[in-house]
Amino acid sequence: MLILGGTRDARQLAARLAGRDDLSVLLSLAGRTENPAPQPVPVRSGGFGGAEGLADFLRAHGTCAVIDATHPYAANISRNAASACAATGVPLLALGRPAWAAQEGDCWREVQDVAAAVEALGMAPRRVFLALGRNEVRAFEAAPQHAYLVRSVDPITPPLAVPQAEYILARGPFSEADDHALLGASGIEIIVAKNSGGTATYGKIAAARALGIAVVMLRRPPMPDVARVSEADAALAWLDARLGCAVVRE
Ligand code: NAP
Repeated sequence: MLILGGTRDARQLAARLAGRDDLSVLLSLAGRTENPAPQPVPVRSGGFGGAEGLADFLRAHGTCAVIDATHPYAANISRNAASACAATGVPLLALGRPAWAAQEGDCWREVQDVAAAVEALGMAPRRVFLALGRNEVRAFEAAPQHAYLVRSVDPITPPLAVPQAEYILARGPFSEADDHALLGASGIEIIVAKNSGGTATYGKIAAARALGIAVVMLRRPPMPDVARVSEADAALAWLDARLGCAVVRE
């Protein structure tokens, strides 16, 4: 079976499947991260060549099931998985965290895309925390009046063409206490973030609430209409049902 990964959920699911002798598990990564986290199962890396390439891959490998555990903002691979699985008849399940919902005390402005997030910062100079990937942060060069603190897994190279930017290289999870300290010490006035769901990157959102910091939240892209679960246990049950077996685990 194939796990489409690049997320903590995918790695954790792979760890749960690693010991199975009734299954050959392959984890697929896009191959973008310079130092990918170690994985508990065999890994392939790089694109498939669109939906048709993925369909060919599924046929060639005799894949019995696909679990799409990619990030909620990775819409292209999820669309490709939906069409490739429909074309080949391979069962598909999406595994991912539900989006966070704003709570009392949150000050969120939801925007459609990164360009709208840049606009939402306004004209007046502000201290901005960018919790985005290295591909998205480049758009903020269009608003050089702000001072940026950028946290990313991979280095932003070349650095942003803005007068004031600092960089933190880090991979989550991030605790609320650490993010509270970081945002407070850096004098951050506004955060730009994705609605990733789950707990690993929620610390900054909770810290923003406590500190009265506004959040510009990128809306999730639309996803294909496929079977979807939010927990690894449900994904394992789905897989066992597809395989026609009932394995009792402790
Ligand atoms: P995307 O726009 O949906 O995908 C772009 C292309 O990258 C796909 O068409 C596919 O190429 C290839 N690809 C993506 N995920 C792949 C996978 N797991 N295995 C093999 N090929 C894959 O995705 P993205 O937003 O660039 O994200 C890339 C990867 O980073 C994803 O795997 C995602 O889980 C992870 N990630 C993304 C974010 C985010 O904010 N977007 C955050 C954390 C992790 P082909 O068409 O050639 O097959």
